[in-house]
Amino acid sequence: MRVVVDFDRCTGLGLCESLAPDFFEVQDDGSLELLRSEVNEAERAELQEAVRSCPTEALRLEG
Ligand code: SF4
Repeated sequence: MRVVVDFDRCTGLGLCESLAPDFFEVQDDGSLELLRSEVNEAERAELQEAVRSCPTEALRLEG
């Protein structure tokens, strides 16, 4: 499973970073950097919460 970001929708508010800091990092210019995309079983719930919490629905899980 992997996490995918729609960068056109992302507004850089950083909720995903606060929930899953190993995956997401908002840069000083407000852009989001995806640090990793592969999600293992142990990380799945954390990423599902980040996907649900994104206010612009910019995140999804695939696979
Ligand atoms: S929570 Fe959504 S809008 Fe906010 S930085 Fe993450 S992907 Fe972007």
